[in-house]
Amino acid sequence: MIADLNKNKGCIMLFEFTDEQKMIQKMVKEFTKNEIKPLDMEMDRNGFNDELWKKIKENGLLGIPLPEEYGGAGGNAVTGALALREISRGSASVAVTLDAHWLATDIVFHHGTREQKEKYLHKASEDSIFAFALTEPSAGSDAAGIQSSAEFDGTHWVLNGTKAWITNGGISDLYIILAKTDEKKSTKGISAFLVEAETPGFSVGKKEDKMGIRGSMTSELIMNNIKLTKESLLGKVGDGFKIAMMALDGARISISAIALGLSEAAREIAVDYAIQRTAFGRPIAQHQSVQNMIANMDIGIRNTELMMFDTARMKDLEKRHTKEAAMLKIYSSETTMQTCKDAIQILGGNGYSRDYHVERYLRDAKIFEIGEGTSEILRMLVGSMSLNK
Ligand SMILES: Cc1cc2nc3c(=O)[nH]c(=O)nc-3n(C[C@H](O)[C@H](O)[C@H](O)COP(=O)(O)OP(=O)(O)OC[C@H]3O[C@@H](n4cnc5c(N)ncnc54)[C@H](O)[C@@H]3O)c2cc1C
Repeated sequence: MIADLNKNKGCIMLFEFTDEQKMIQKMVKEFTKNEIKPLDMEMDRNGFNDELWKKIKENGLLGIPLPEEYGGAGGNAVTGALALREISRGSASVAVTLDAHWLATDIVFHHGTREQKEKYLHKASEDSIFAFALTEPSAGSDAAGIQSSAEFDGTHWVLNGTKAWITNGGISDLYIILAKTDEKKSTKGISAFLVEAETPGFSVGKKEDKMGIRGSMTSELIMNNIKLTKESLLGKVGDGFKIAMMALDGARISISAIALGLSEAAREIAVDYAIQRTAFGRPIAQHQSVQNMIANMDIGIRNTELMMFDTARMKDLEKRHTKEAAMLKIYSSETTMQTCKDAIQILGGNGYSRDYHVERYLRDAKIFEIGEGTSEILRMLVGSMSLNK
């Protein structure tokens, strides 16, 4: 069965989606059109929109990839990718907020105890936003170099440190925080903790004034002698780095779905404009240089789509997808940067105006080459995996 006939781009994709996936995609598409897209420009100016997020929670979007036993929609990585792609066509900021939430909930689902899952995952499906906190002011790419520490005092874990650039910082109810539990060890000296926003000693620091995805919240987190019970440890002591890296493999599929949706949104504006705008007596779409830019957009979009669903399928089949997810993320982020840049070029002076959206898309697109592993770090990962077989 041919599952998706994208008439708009004249391409067929031979990839089968289930009826449930198609239903969720349709629901998300409608919701995006009616509720998210109209607010995209407003969020770029005024930031995270509380009223919209109330509706997102009421409509069950928080729990799309979580099993029904935890109140979710029972989706998987393919479903999540379908949903984030649709949402990103309306607002990359909203999609990034959900991506960070899903990254954190995926960790609780895969590594939490039965009690931790019961305690947190129902909330994650219904009304609580989660965040994932690895990066620090002095350690981003070099994640093993984090300095936040957790010491066990006989009854409690005591956490100290600062996290930087945390998506959903300040709007989350639960934070997954990575901290050093053994100074002498490198990656194996890092553990993961569940930290509730109300925990004494936990506070939110500087809110970042960002170039793009301005409708998402990004903040510093401060931990000052936070006391956590033993039950706050996620996974085993020393497993934190492994847990984080596994989760990031999956998150790179999600971030690529967002990049894809943004590319498609930019392409749509560029194509409509190219058909209507005339120069030298004919629509600019008939000028070869403009057609070339549109052709390149389509090549990038189609390749991203194919790589993305294939990698999501690998995740759903529980096959290791570290290299594939890294390649996908490099490709999708570079494709969306070029697509948004070319969309501005096709719109000429109007492309440079805030009124035509594509300048915002370019600002939004830049994050995909940085967050969840920069292109440089991911190329190193792909290269080393290619050579060390
Ligand atoms: C909007 C936004 C949201 C974010 N959300 C989160 C979040 O929710 N949770 C979280 O934990 N983090 C988050 N981050 C942090 C993000 O993951 C880091 O910014 C990213 O990993 C890069 O780290 P850095 O900023 O410290 O850059 P650095 O590591 O300092 O790197 C700076 C530059 O040097 C390059 N570089 C570094 N090392 C090498 C090397 N060995 N070889 C070649 N080049 C190298 C990098 O590629 C980059 O170009 C977010 C960041 C942003 C901007």
